[in-house]
Amino acid sequence: MREIKRAIIHTTATDPNWMDGQGAEAKRDEIDRWHKGKGWAGFGYHGLIDRDGAYVQGRPYHTQGAHVRGQNGDSIGVTLVGGRGSAANDEFSDNFTNEQERALIEWMEEVSELFPGITFHGHNEFANKACPGFNVNDWMDMADLTEPPNMFADIVALFMKLFGGKK
Ligand SMILES: [Zn+2]
Repeated sequence: MREIKRAIIHTTATDPNWMDGQGAEAKRDEIDRWHKGKGWAGFGYHGLIDRDGAYVQGRPYHTQGAHVRGQNGDSIGVTLVGGRGSAANDEFSDNFTNEQERALIEWMEEVSELFPGITFHGHNEFANKACPGFNVNDWMDMADLTEPPNMFADIVALFMKLFGGKK
């Protein structure tokens, strides 16, 4: 099994209403077609977070992704639906929904448990790109994610699991 040290956050760079109502799986499958069309091995991320916070898996974590040149060997990648026309230092809320923010935080907690010591980054830390359309470090400071997962977040995550917030 490969060592996973970093999680890198991306955007699909699509319009907010892209494939509206079609569900996270359909969006993942459409991106899979795009990536195959470029001659790649299909959907290059490990997960996708839809506008309504629904999460769908891409490649298994221990399969190398194809999302950041030179960084794929020891990282995993997740992509947020939306973000077309975003800039590297936009606010999270300029391009993404509150439901996506909650789902991203929950995903970060889950992968922190799976891969202790993992660190979180935006694609724009490794390339001269806008992706994911916000500054991940600044956002983590704002969301107070520099502290270990707290009781409140754990309760929110449990609630989501019990009552179907997570799809
Ligand atoms: Zn990216």
